Amino acid sequence: MRVILLGAPGAGKGTQGALLAKRHDAERIATGELLRDAVRSDSPLGRKAKSYMDAGELVPDDLILEMVREVIAEEARDGFVLDGFPRTVDQADGLRAILNGLGMPLDGVVVLKVDDEVLIKRLSGRRPCPECKAVYNIYFDPPEQAGICDRCGAELQQRSDDDPETVKHRIQVYARQTRPLVEYYQASDTPVVFVDGAQPVDAVQSDIEDQLAGAVRA
Ligand code: AMP
Repeated sequence: MRVILLGAPGAGKGTQGALLAKRHDAERIATGELLRDAVRSDSPLGRKAKSYMDAGELVPDDLILEMVREVIAEEARDGFVLDGFPRTVDQADGLRAILNGLGMPLDGVVVLKVDDEVLIKRLSGRRPCPECKAVYNIYFDPPEQAGICDRCGAELQQRSDDDPETVKHRIQVYARQTRPLVEYYQASDTPVVFVDGAQPVDAVQSDIEDQLAGAVRA
């Protein structure tokens, strides 16, 4: 399986990408996570990326493409689910060149659609556990004791870019810079499918599977 998940921040790309990758034995490549790891380890890439991420802006395309090129070439031979990449037309052009070079065509693009009000609550309410990586939401899925992980007892955190103002800005950045990729891929040979991302997790996953199977058969 070689697919791209497109969707605004909070649309569920991380959750759905992990499920899809597991089921199809593919590598989930989430550029946001790779960048957060780089920031945490204070690598040269992390130092360059941090200010853009904190402001809810996109990290420059050349840095992203350099990072992704290596990961795809080294880890994605058996397939991949791209989560959060590409985010601009230049990144999509770069991806096309990388995949052509490796002889790995895309199977499909999945667009997860969720209304802005839901996105804002999902992101500004998100509280990840830094230890065991469980993710809670103070509106939809709160822990039993406020601020404490049910599973491991660690203190929950909030991503620095999940405060309400930065969340609104990230959604605008998506609309301006990333949503045009829907048309970009519709104009290509790669099938594009649309899934209602506001449904329960299992329903979204089975819609993705059904629609991709249908699109690849067509
Ligand atoms: P995410 O975890 O996908 O929401 O990404 C968090 C932040 O990382 C974004 O707001 C951007 O600052 C940065 N980022 C992640 N992926 C990309 C990308 N493909 N291009 C540019 N910036 C990115």
